[in-house]
Amino acid sequence: MGERLRNWAGNIEFGAARVHRPSSVEQVQEVVAGAERVRALGTGHSFNAIADTPADLVSVAGLPADIRIDGDARTVSVAGGVRYGELARRLDAEGYALHNLGSLPHISVAGAVATGTHGSGVGLGNLATAISAVDIVSGGGELVSLRRGDADFDGAVVALGALGIVVRVALDIEPSYRVSQHVYERLPRAELDAHWKEIAAAGYSVSLFTGWHGDTVDQVWIKRRDEDAAAPAELFGAVPASGKRHPIAVMSPEHCTEQGGVPGPWHERLPHFKLEFTPSSGEELQTEYFVARADAVAAFAAVERVRDVVVPALQISEVRTIAADRLWLSPHYERDSVALHFTWVPNDDLVLRAVDALEEVLAPFAPRPHWGKVFRSAPGYPRGGDFAALAARLDPAGTFRNAFVERHVFAA
Ligand SMILES: Cc1cc2nc3c(=O)[nH]c(=O)nc-3n(C[C@H](O)[C@H](O)[C@H](O)COP(=O)(O)OP(=O)(O)OC[C@H]3O[C@@H](n4cnc5c(N)ncnc54)[C@H](O)[C@@H]3O)c2cc1C
Repeated sequence: MGERLRNWAGNIEFGAARVHRPSSVEQVQEVVAGAERVRALGTGHSFNAIADTPADLVSVAGLPADIRIDGDARTVSVAGGVRYGELARRLDAEGYALHNLGSLPHISVAGAVATGTHGSGVGLGNLATAISAVDIVSGGGELVSLRRGDADFDGAVVALGALGIVVRVALDIEPSYRVSQHVYERLPRAELDAHWKEIAAAGYSVSLFTGWHGDTVDQVWIKRRDEDAAAPAELFGAVPASGKRHPIAVMSPEHCTEQGGVPGPWHERLPHFKLEFTPSSGEELQTEYFVARADAVAAFAAVERVRDVVVPALQISEVRTIAADRLWLSPHYERDSVALHFTWVPNDDLVLRAVDALEEVLAPFAPRPHWGKVFRSAPGYPRGGDFAALAARLDPAGTFRNAFVERHVFAA
């Protein structure tokens, strides 16, 4: 059919022979039943070939959103292709909220949770931890429903698209809340080491932005709920920004959600970027490694040891925290994590040199890479064998396997 799709970053050209855009679950089932090899595509915001296939690619963006809120059960159910931005607006309008969001509202719910996408917050699990049920069109086109508490459920949420096409999910919700966002600048680097735990816990959600260039961390973004303690006048030597900031100093802060402590709806403060603007730099690659939160300070020092190869490839780094969970392939599986994120310039050579150096110096901390970003190698996961067995049961013909999952999951 000749349609050649690229991912959001433009670094991956999907090799799919056919791209399908079904408008009903029955059509998804027909495509899967007739396909030898098939993969789901979300909004294409991953930076590697995780979604790719040489055969059939299915986008579920055309399924009716069909957002159903159950206030008594505190859940919302929604078609998998719906973007967080759209879901969040509807929830807020009805007086409800999610526990957290990623840095951007542009991504699809099914695609985001498939890779363990996360925001920040010492007490907050990744976005997949809010999922309470999934409907998957699995091997042979069969519709499989799993809910929290089922034996296989913890393997079926962060599933990298390897169990089938997720057509519907249910998520936990809570009453709507307001958040205010304060940006502090020039956190003395030594204070970060001395007070890492307090800084990471200084708000509902905390992000640090740094260029790893020496004596200071560029920015600390603190997102507070109304009921949290008031924002401090100073944060361990970091001072409030005098105006609105973008994490990348040369970019326009217009793209960013409201700062300066102005309270607003949760979904207009938890993401860093507004739905109607380009998120992040727009011309970039990304990498992210997760290590145990207890190793954070040592991991910062390790990154600084390879600053010479990291900095030439870097636009900005972000440090966040994620609470441990029980999802088998989650990078945060049974580990309270700190995330070391790198927004790179779009230059493969520079990026891969930096990635190699980072994987070497972080090795003592058993780093787990973000499934949707640029990396070389992923470790075996404690429940990887159970995941392979689940995939063999739901998809005995291996319809949903691709080169990425063969290498990083089934051979790991
Ligand atoms: C600018 C930018 C900012 C980002 N910020 C963050 C961030 O703050 N935190 C973070 O953790 N990540 C972040 N990411 C990474 C992003 O969240 C992940 O790559 C996420 O998986 C993208 O979702 P998607 O819908 O685009 O999925 P895709 O990239 O399209 O697909 C990812 C995986 O999900 C599978 N999949 C997609 N849809 C389905 C479905 N319906 N059923 C089954 N499997 C499916 C695909 O097969 C593939 O394996 C960012 C990316 C960009 C480009």
